[in-house]
Amino acid sequence: MPRSMAMRMISPGNINSINNADAMKVVPLLLSLCLIPGSVLFAQSEKNWSDNARWKEAKYGPWGGPGVDPAPGPMDKLLLKDYAPRSSVVSGMTVLPKAKFPAIDVHTHVVAETPGEVAEWVKTMDEVGIKTSVVLTDATGADFDSLADLYLKPYPDRFILFCGMDKTDIDKPDYSARIVAELVRCYKKGARGVGEWTDKGLGYTTDSTITADKRLHPDDFRLDPFWEKCAELKIPVNIHVSDHPSNWTPLDVYQERTPDYQHFNRYGKDGLSYEELLEVRNRMLKKHPKTTFIACHLANEGNDLERLSKLLETYPNLYLDISARDYEIGRTPRAALKFFSKYPGRVLFGTDMGREKSMYQAWWRLLESEDEFMVGRIWWRYYGLALPSAVLKAMYNGNANRILNWKKL
Ligand SMILES: [Zn+2]
Repeated sequence: MPRSMAMRMISPGNINSINNADAMKVVPLLLSLCLIPGSVLFAQSEKNWSDNARWKEAKYGPWGGPGVDPAPGPMDKLLLKDYAPRSSVVSGMTVLPKAKFPAIDVHTHVVAETPGEVAEWVKTMDEVGIKTSVVLTDATGADFDSLADLYLKPYPDRFILFCGMDKTDIDKPDYSARIVAELVRCYKKGARGVGEWTDKGLGYTTDSTITADKRLHPDDFRLDPFWEKCAELKIPVNIHVSDHPSNWTPLDVYQERTPDYQHFNRYGKDGLSYEELLEVRNRMLKKHPKTTFIACHLANEGNDLERLSKLLETYPNLYLDISARDYEIGRTPRAALKFFSKYPGRVLFGTDMGREKSMYQAWWRLLESEDEFMVGRIWWRYYGLALPSAVLKAMYNGNANRILNWKKL
């Protein structure tokens, strides 16, 4: 199958179109587990899926079927959420304790809360080759100030802090002036960016009781002075708008990601759709060309790198971080290598997965080695990208050195 066709097949629009009423009905049966004291009951599907052409296509692709005669057995009682196959593949495992070049992790959160934990984190950073971690605090006021004391006072050279945006009283006339004043105050306290500014459909809030007309989406006029002030202060904004496209597809037999991710699902729920969110984000990017935006998680478009290329070409003020999208680049290593090589100046390294040593080292293996069929998250297997040194260097530190604000307090 030509690559362009394969890319189209996994585009979000088409994922939505494979919603199937039969699937919706039978999934609760397939996946449900009833716990009754002393015994476990498993419900089973009564539907014969092998008669369903759409299901066969999704499950077997051009092979058309399993190639054997399936028969009932103990695996019929397994739950999807428990499935963890062990691979029999015997191939090399490259151990990379440290990044090839000093790395700047542009996407972390407050994963150390005491001076002792911060010191532990710095020790791990030294061991794995992280020069600086950008902590996306999303905090304002006294919360931000205490984080600045915790991180910047003892380690001014190892951490960069991003602040947040006040979410209260957004319909008061002084809202824009208030958030700008707080941004300037946080900047003076050491904030060198904003984020992670998140809108997964309900606006810049996690409060689902706020009605649609009161939600703040990124292109809202009330935010214009804030984004402009970021440009003036030369501080970037890390944005998380929309989410993985599978979040807007049903939790049925066609769901792409494992049940680990089902609580993020927004299919059929209130709020903007995947495509609408990308539109409000793009309007903001267009309105504020002087502001530097870093769209985290490959802008939630890492499933379609051709589309993502067009996005980068349309908005020169946009950069990407690769955090938490190991599974996108790991499952399409050749396309990802081409993409990173084509846009070496636009992609930054980020993790967003805590501060364990093994997590950092898994990233080095994915980005630097040629290892195959690596165990990854979800149930996708990853393939090493073996990025060339120049691309790796730009991703690890070159771009961050250039676009972050490194001004000391
Ligand atoms: Zn994050």
